[in-house]
Amino acid sequence: MVRPYVIIGTGAAGMAAAERLRLLKPDALIQMMSVDEYSHSRCMLHKFLGGERDEKGLSFVSDDFFEKNRIMWGKGQAAKGIDTKEKRVLMEDGYQPYEKLLIATGSVYGIPPIPGFRTAANVFGFRDLSDAQKMDAAIRELDAKHVFIVGSGLVGLDVAYALMERGVKVTIAEMATRVLPLQTDEVSAKAYQELFEKAGARFKLGIGASDSVVDERNRITAVKMSNGEEVPCDFVVCAAGVRPNVAFLEGSGIRTGRGIEVDGYMRTSEPDVFAAGDVTALSGIWPNAMDQGRIAAANMCGQEQKYTDTFCVKNTINFFGLTMLSVGEVEPKEEGSEIFVRECKNAYQKVIVRDGVVKGVQFEGDISHTGFWQYLIKNEIDVSEKIKDKSVFELGYGDFYGMDEMGEYTYSV
Ligand SMILES: Cc1cc2nc3c(=O)[nH]c(=O)nc-3n(C[C@H](O)[C@H](O)[C@H](O)COP(=O)(O)OP(=O)(O)OC[C@H]3O[C@@H](n4cnc5c(N)ncnc54)[C@H](O)[C@@H]3O)c2cc1C
Repeated sequence: MVRPYVIIGTGAAGMAAAERLRLLKPDALIQMMSVDEYSHSRCMLHKFLGGERDEKGLSFVSDDFFEKNRIMWGKGQAAKGIDTKEKRVLMEDGYQPYEKLLIATGSVYGIPPIPGFRTAANVFGFRDLSDAQKMDAAIRELDAKHVFIVGSGLVGLDVAYALMERGVKVTIAEMATRVLPLQTDEVSAKAYQELFEKAGARFKLGIGASDSVVDERNRITAVKMSNGEEVPCDFVVCAAGVRPNVAFLEGSGIRTGRGIEVDGYMRTSEPDVFAAGDVTALSGIWPNAMDQGRIAAANMCGQEQKYTDTFCVKNTINFFGLTMLSVGEVEPKEEGSEIFVRECKNAYQKVIVRDGVVKGVQFEGDISHTGFWQYLIKNEIDVSEKIKDKSVFELGYGDFYGMDEMGEYTYSV
């Protein structure tokens, strides 16, 4: 029996791996499976919730991806476990043997242990299309006018933005004292907060939800804050953290810590089993999941390729047309850091330098020509000589690449 290469998950990591596998193994059998019935980009979920796109509009591959690449896809099929001795994936109604296996099952959201939150019928997360579909149905069925959101990170604000587009009022609770606490400082956060408030959002910052009011139909009708205030709502969205999706691996022998443990070649502790994407907990962003998927695929084919890019704290943000690039530290993590700030009416720029090395940047308002900052931070380039006789904000591509962003040489040849 010829065993296929099997990929669990059709998200960023799984699809990138599948494409690379087909390239490297033109004749191999490739079988994918996913809980998802539509392969979709999580980054675009808010467009579905906001009513801007339908399910198909969230796809990030061509319509004929599976056909063109001769890949079999078990859609709507959940892996229930893995028998690494017999080399097979356990399914609801049987099993799927594998030659090599890639686990790319992403993350799952958590619901905080607030009374009522884990048992009520109207508490949702926002991770998969199915979550957005449930919320969409709830808006229609409950004629929802007001939603309570836990967490003001990127996912929480994505949900808030989409709901407001549909005319639903939102209250967003955040334990930190500012919105987007992982990407912003007080100043850059304030600009986003004001834009959301102008659009009608209400924030509860530096304060947590502590209880809920549940009606006879097991629905939360109000959330109680720790200061005693009660916020009425039609449903609740939890957007305060995710964890790698590894529960189904229990008993498989595949070693997990926070996520699936992998070596530099994306190999797990079990032979012929690889992992990539959010499930490894190496990163939590789309481009890194794709890179890991491609590297895993190469190693599944016997090519030795190492994943070295564990640097992941990069975010590009855009709400209400206000763009921002945030890379690395948002506040200095150690003493002895220099903080450079430049501010004008519609822009805020901040660079943190320590021991001559850029540790973090925030560019809000104008993010053109900022691509090289990630390179500087990731590669720990010493900029001390360069900024002796010019402002750190005047650094540009030319200082490090010998050419500008448009590919024009900045020195004479
Ligand atoms: C709302 C939201 C907005 C985001 N915005 C951004 C952004 O702007 N920029 C950015 O870089 N990142 C963003 N991210 C993060 C990004 O989406 C993830 O890093 C990326 O999707 C990870 O890819 P993955 O392949 O590891 O997992 P996923 O894309 O989550 O895919 C997991 C796959 O595994 C399948 N699966 C899970 N369990 C099983 C099982 N037991 N059996 C079979 N199949 C299973 C699922 O059906 C799915 O196909 C966002 C995430 C969310 C939720």
